[in-house]
Amino acid sequence: MGRVKNIIKKLPFYLASALFLYEISLGIANYLIVQNSQKIRFISHLERLIEEKKKEASFNKNIRVEIDYPGKITTTALSRKKGVDSYEIVINKDWLNTKTLDHELYHIFDGHCESTSTFKQKNLLDKLVEKWKFYYYEEPKTIIHTLMNK
Ligand SMILES: [Zn+2]
Repeated sequence: MGRVKNIIKKLPFYLASALFLYEISLGIANYLIVQNSQKIRFISHLERLIEEKKKEASFNKNIRVEIDYPGKITTTALSRKKGVDSYEIVINKDWLNTKTLDHELYHIFDGHCESTSTFKQKNLLDKLVEKWKFYYYEEPKTIIHTLMNK
């Protein structure tokens, strides 16, 4: 019985570790997908790609991209809603490639960025639900989409 008790006591630790490893593997999957993707060097190329993808997805709302420089943001890329009809993608310059762009655009097209309140403004339960939804539905779905697309 002592052994079972011990395992139960350590259960939160095991669960937290499993979740952590899962989140790390999503990051690694993303990294591997993006590795061999084509670099975007010109704003004109970036704009053309966005227009093409918007057309493919029949998406007519405004999407602007901000390019961030290493050290300025802590993330590789993110997408968020800025207004009723506008969205923003922030991509770190080192990650400015077609797959990262596809990934962020898919988050927008598939409705993952619709929440208007920021993460900080949410209560604990909403934060947990959002984190859960992101890691167990939106992010894996987006990774699979990015992997399947040319
Ligand atoms: Zn993502």
